[in-house]
Amino acid sequence: MSDKKIVTRFAPSPTGFLHVGGLRTALYAYLVAKKNNGTFLLRIEDTDRERYVEGGVKNILESLYWANVVPNEGVTLQSESIAQIGSHGPYIQSERLSIYKKYADQLIANKQAYYCFCTPERLAQVREERQKNKLPPGYDGFCKNLTKEEVAQKLAENQNHVVRLNMPDDGETTWNDLIHGEVSFKNTDVDDQVLLKSDGYPTYHLAVVVDDHEMEISHVVRGDEWISSTPKHLQLYSYLGWTPPVFAHLPLLLNTDKSKLSKRQGDVAVLDYKEKGYLPEALINFVAFLGWNPGTPQEIFSFDELVQTFNLNRVGKAGAVFNLEKLDWYNREYLKKMSADDFKNYISAFIPENMKEKIDNGKMLTRLAPILLDRISKGSDLVKMYDEGELTYFFETPKYLPEKLLWKTTPKDQTILNLQGIYDLLSYSKDEDFDVDHVKEEIMEYLQDKEKGGTLHPMRLALSGLDKSPDPFVIAGVLGKKETLSRLKIAIDALSK
Ligand code: GLU
Repeated sequence: MSDKKIVTRFAPSPTGFLHVGGLRTALYAYLVAKKNNGTFLLRIEDTDRERYVEGGVKNILESLYWANVVPNEGVTLQSESIAQIGSHGPYIQSERLSIYKKYADQLIANKQAYYCFCTPERLAQVREERQKNKLPPGYDGFCKNLTKEEVAQKLAENQNHVVRLNMPDDGETTWNDLIHGEVSFKNTDVDDQVLLKSDGYPTYHLAVVVDDHEMEISHVVRGDEWISSTPKHLQLYSYLGWTPPVFAHLPLLLNTDKSKLSKRQGDVAVLDYKEKGYLPEALINFVAFLGWNPGTPQEIFSFDELVQTFNLNRVGKAGAVFNLEKLDWYNREYLKKMSADDFKNYISAFIPENMKEKIDNGKMLTRLAPILLDRISKGSDLVKMYDEGELTYFFETPKYLPEKLLWKTTPKDQTILNLQGIYDLLSYSKDEDFDVDHVKEEIMEYLQDKEKGGTLHPMRLALSGLDKSPDPFVIAGVLGKKETLSRLKIAIDALSK
């Protein structure tokens, strides 16, 4: 990279909640800046007033801060309020209207842009005709040919107008994209883009160029959907006499069936992932791999390792598949790294109300936590497991038909003796020793030269009421001595009737 200070930016439009694709763009821009001791700037591009969503800016900031992708210039959160920091502000485009107007006027004066008075009806007609003649969509340049007098008169009459880019009719616009290599567009295929709208707001195209220049952005990292806009932007840089930044266009995110990942899928909002119990480290690690790979088999990267290792030259051009199962895998890996106490705290937040009532003491949760860790990928899985009755037996004495206690050909009398045998054995255990390992050791030793199914099957059933469940030692360990013995006793009594 060049000697110039590295400044990257994330420039979202607050048209909804920050989605995972946006987080990926922000993360890559952030990593490029951090790796080079540069600046990562957040700018809000809110010039499309029709699509403006109240609360959007706050959501973007909360999502970024939760994921640790924190800007050090521009729009930030300071004690939970939105604040702008830095000397290139304001960083919210709707607060910069006079700046865009100044450049639009300059472009008009230099004939690099022109007023366009075409009505929506005429534009619809042009669109239709161009379609019929198999021409690329775009404006036909009608107002470019208006005389000075005609323009002056229409302006004096207060006719509705926009300002359009005067794109050259010949030549090509080419740039060296950090991800795509050399990209080239014929200028005739590039539209005379609207730069200033009739409401006086700039379009994204004018605003993005002015701001990236004024905010001294060195690297523009953004999604592939902006590639076809880049020639317009480069033309503006050239007209305004500015050096353009380096561009890196990131590959699209795809669903597993290779269709385009839609940001309208409610599920892809970053804070939805938080709600579901994904850890920010896991989501970031997963998102980092959406298009990038380190070129080694390493998959788990701490944030610092990402900063060290990430490089845009290892980002592919092809669409990156968004695979939720992989995200679940990452989350489990990070959950497994947690200390027992941290996991207990984490999982506590997901315990459904009616389950909470049943966990009468913290001790039970301490014993239950490792079992949950074995069976969930994220906190919200617990809710599902509980709702589907998979955990009920931990909290309620199970109900079952006594004959279900019998194992294959083992007779009833023998089953009673077997259950009584482990009942007596476990009665000698100390309350505080009564955990999975202890129960397992005791019982397996006791069963060493005995037939195991005739004891372990009724034990499992007595404790869970189910033929299939986690192994009976695990359940006993969670239930504790008192409840385990009580359930064994109920089973013995039921068979003895
Ligand atoms: N405001 C644009 C968006 O929402 C930013 C595009 C860019 O980074 O230039 O995606």
